[in-house]
Amino acid sequence: MTDLPIRKDLIGLKPYGAPQLDVAARLNVNENPFPLSPKIVKAMANAVEQVAGKLNRYPDRDAVKLRTELAKFVNADAKTNLTFENIWPANGSNEVMHQIFQLFGGPGKLAVGFAPTYSMYPDYCRDTFTEYKTVNRNEDFTIDQSVIDGALALNPDIILLASPNNPTGTILDDHLVTYLLGKFNGMVIVDEAYAEFRQPEMPTSIPLVNSNRHLIVTRTMSKAFSCAGLRLGYAVANAEVIAALQIVRLPYHLSGVTQAVAIAALEHSEELLGQVELLRQERNKLASWLADEGFIVAPSGANFILFGIFTDRDQVFQGLLDQGVLIRQTGPAGWLRVSIGTPQENELFRKALSSLELTN
Ligand SMILES: *Cc1c(COP(=O)(O)O)cnc(C)c1O
Repeated sequence: MTDLPIRKDLIGLKPYGAPQLDVAARLNVNENPFPLSPKIVKAMANAVEQVAGKLNRYPDRDAVKLRTELAKFVNADAKTNLTFENIWPANGSNEVMHQIFQLFGGPGKLAVGFAPTYSMYPDYCRDTFTEYKTVNRNEDFTIDQSVIDGALALNPDIILLASPNNPTGTILDDHLVTYLLGKFNGMVIVDEAYAEFRQPEMPTSIPLVNSNRHLIVTRTMSKAFSCAGLRLGYAVANAEVIAALQIVRLPYHLSGVTQAVAIAALEHSEELLGQVELLRQERNKLASWLADEGFIVAPSGANFILFGIFTDRDQVFQGLLDQGVLIRQTGPAGWLRVSIGTPQENELFRKALSSLELTN
């Protein structure tokens, strides 16, 4: 054991570490498989050149221009009328969540999530000395009023809802957020990292933020926007909540380069999101194929599919990896998660999975 005087509850813990392997099909962290077009690359390079001459100065610590662009995108997507005062960006929505927990969590506070759900939620809690508990989803991974009531019975301070949920892909019924907000005095965080993959008629909770000071919706440019390497996520909330979040942000947390590149990306949001429909079709195709092959498939509104059920999922994971296909061992025992790749990558995955001698 280390003799470093680190925090007792952190001794022996391992950092987050999904494998980053250079294989033919990287289908393990829900990235968008399509690289940016030369036109967008050029726009980003120009933006960096502009800002590079000013890097001797700190960036706009309030990121007003970027927040204004994000508000425009959100308004178009959610049919709202929000301003930059409703938006707070950081280095990935993971950092936004950390800030949310620094502000609303802390010693003596309890956060509740709905299992199975995102593996980082317990880590935000650990880091901020917030207690974390889960309530189980229904067998089909959905949430209904009785599941929400189960969470409320724990008397939490924060309730975390991911929609679509990771790793299951499950979409949350809109009316449940309204139901919850009507009964709960703490903070409701709706994690919409995959919202752009939902069907157009599916709800987002963003229209509820202006009238509900207890609701925060988080979004990211890491998934549908094809900008995981940029590290840009944001919170959408009532202006009062956004102002409060700024208390805990580190000074100048978002670099001038990040702000400039994100703005350039948002100016091309239509093109960036142009592959979303193809990814949705590929997802539906892959889900049907998996079902036809006799696997159990969780209905997904995101760019990944949870499927199973294997007696030895590690063996399946390794069998695929041996053929250059990297997926993820996550979710309940016996399930695996595959991200939707390019049509070629998905074909590789199908071939590799078909070739395995499955014992179950
Ligand atoms: C990928 C993901 C995020 C986004 O993380 P970033 O830090 O923005 O890259 C947030 N929530 C869930 C559930 C995710 O799967």
